[in-house]
Amino acid sequence: MKMTDSRDHCVSPMRRDRIFQSHTDDSYRTPTRVQGGKACRECGAVYEKGRWIWTTNAEQTGQLVCPACRRIHEHAPAGELWLEAGGYLLAHRDEVVSLLQREAAYEETCYALERLMSIEEQAKGVRVTTTGRHMLRRLCEALVLAHHGQLSLKYRDGGGILRARWKRPGD
Ligand SMILES: [Zn+2]
Repeated sequence: MKMTDSRDHCVSPMRRDRIFQSHTDDSYRTPTRVQGGKACRECGAVYEKGRWIWTTNAEQTGQLVCPACRRIHEHAPAGELWLEAGGYLLAHRDEVVSLLQREAAYEETCYALERLMSIEEQAKGVRVTTTGRHMLRRLCEALVLAHHGQLSLKYRDGGGILRARWKRPGD
């Protein structure tokens, strides 16, 4: 069977040398039903050979809800990044946000379950949530490459949520 995904840019050599490791298992990755249609009725991702993928194959009917759409509905992010409020963020907020949005859009085309959920302005900073830990790591990586600052990453209580905090003192 041929994979019909034509997003060749996802495997371009420039994207291979990554600092972070990619996917790990989590409980949102197993579909609750597998008989009948194998596509997500929300986003069209297709469950094939144990993975969720984007495909241009239109044969699949949407009867499932993919883990990413479930996380979005249930407000259950797999990754959370806090950008701590400060002088630098205040001065560069738009730049930072558009960088994260661009990076997320790119990652979403490569990985069906990796989505940006939200970027929320809050009193203590900006909260960014994702449906996948892989996406979160990529966002953190892009942020630090472009804007430096200090990043800490941690899993909370084995609950599977990857939490990151970033700050850069004003300068
Ligand atoms: Zn979906």
